[in-house]
Parts: sequence; structure tokens; C-alpha cells
Amino acid sequence: MQVITQIDSLRKYLNSVRIQQKTIGVVPTMGALHQGHLNLVRRSVQKCDVTVVTIFVNPLQFGPQEDLDAYPRRLEDDVALCAEQGAEVVFAPQIKDMYSPHHGTFVVPESVENLYCGAYRPGHFKGVLTIVAKLFLAVQPDWAFFGKKDYQQAALIQRMVEDLNFPIRIHLVPTARERSGLARSSRNQYLTQDERQRAVAIYSGLKKAQERWKQGERRVVELKKTVRQTIQKSGGSVQYIELASRKTLLPLKGSIQESAVILVAAFYGTTRLIDNLEL
Ligand code: AMP
Repeated sequence: MQVITQIDSLRKYLNSVRIQQKTIGVVPTMGALHQGHLNLVRRSVQKCDVTVVTIFVNPLQFGPQEDLDAYPRRLEDDVALCAEQGAEVVFAPQIKDMYSPHHGTFVVPESVENLYCGAYRPGHFKGVLTIVAKLFLAVQPDWAFFGKKDYQQAALIQRMVEDLNFPIRIHLVPTARERSGLARSSRNQYLTQDERQRAVAIYSGLKKAQERWKQGERRVVELKKTVRQTIQKSGGSVQYIELASRKTLLPLKGSIQESAVILVAAFYGTTRLIDNLEL
């Protein structure tokens, strides 16, 4: 396995792969890899001849008050984990390799961009789509692997691929969870032991709402109330809870008539966690 930091060297290596008619899978990440990321890598290794894991903490998707500086960076461990899973390349560029001082071109989503996470993280998805588009152009993969944990992100990336005709197929991987049900996240390590235990309420709230839905509850306010109460009881502070159409990701009101997903963001202490569950 090799670690590449320059786009030119990456292209050169991948051209030699393509000449051999081998398929390429890419797994874009910000590093501090956990089981959730590794599930994506494993999927890519199973499906594609060559897997490229990208590790880049993308400054463009962090707001001015967010955790860019504190975000965990563990390149050496990450590289070892990728090698263990059978990836061929870790692409780990520096900021200067991805953004010149004159960088002035962005990919800005217009559908559902200002909803859910987008409402609280202005510019976040512009940052995500811009870096994903750049990584797609650098790697030119056949397949790209993303997690359902970041549901809105995955939907916006699928939209971008369709809208801009990227010749890339997207594979979405289910959310990896700790045994407690807490969705795995690089940000979980900000949680104290106590917060970590209480944050399990996010998933149990989602499961309770799913249970009520299975029993026939279709009222959006009722399903949201179930999640909200469970989180609040655990001392979490809800940022948003919404039910959205799985097809369009637009918010659902009144009574649910179509396949839906519950999207949640909540704080435990100063740590913001997101999760979701398809009904
Ligand atoms: P990140 O490093 O947080 O930007 O995540 C990189 C990729 O891993 C994204 O496609 C995420 O959706 C995915 N991912 C992160 N956490 C999980 C998880 N718990 N389960 C599945 N995929 C995940």
C-alpha cells in the first residue's frame, strides 16, 4: 500500500491501473478512521480491483466557530488500518495541494441545502461538494462509497453526480454503531464517559419512533415528539428533528404517506452529533 500526497502522482499511478482495465473505488474521509469508515473501505475492496482511501480534513466545510483545529488527525494509524483492509492507496494531500491561494470555483447545491444540517452549518455542503468533486476528478473512480450516517450529505452527493453527469456510481453503506446503538463518529471522542452513555438516547429515540410508526402512527408531530422527549430526558439538547421524504429529502408535514427518514442533530455538552433512521 502506498501513501500519495500529490494529485499528479495519484493520477499517474491510477492511469497505470486503468490501463490494466482494473476498476477503481474511492472512499473519501477526513481520517481518524473508525469501524464505520472501515466498513466503507471493506465494501470498496470487495467490489473494486483497486481502492483509494482519501484522508483530508477539508477546511472549506468547517464554519468559523467549528472544530477544524481540534478535529482528530491520526494519519499513521489510519494508513495502517487502510492497509489491513486491503486498500491500495491512501491519498492524503495537504491543504495547499487541494486549494491554491487563488481558489475561486465551488460546487454549490441548491436542493435541500438550507435544510437540516445546512440550516445550522451555512456553507458546509458547498465545502463538501466542492472537495468531493475535486477528489472525484483526481481519482476518477468507477465507484464511490459513502455512509448513510451522513444522510443529507449522501443525498446531495448523489444529486451532484446525477446533475453534473459524473461517470461514477455511488454505493451507500449502512450506519455502523457501537454496541450501545450510538452511531460511530470521529467526533464521539469529544464526549465524556457520561455524555457518551447519555447520547445513546439519540438512537433509542429513533428506534422508539420507528416502533410507533410500525404500530401505525403516521403523524409527523407525534413521531418527532417521541424522539425529542427521549433525547431531552437524557439531558441532550436537540438542534433539529425532522421527518423527510427518502426520495426528495424534503420535509414531511401532517401525516406520512411515503417512505421517510427521521433526521436528528443533538448536542451532548459541546459535542454535536447527528443520526438518522429510515422508517
Ligand atoms: P467523515 O470522515 O466523517 O467525513 O466520513 C467519511 C465517510 O464515512 C462518509 O461517507 C461518512 O458518511 C462515512 N461514515 C462516517 N461514520 C460512519 C458510520 N458510523 N457508519 C457508516 N459510515 C460512516
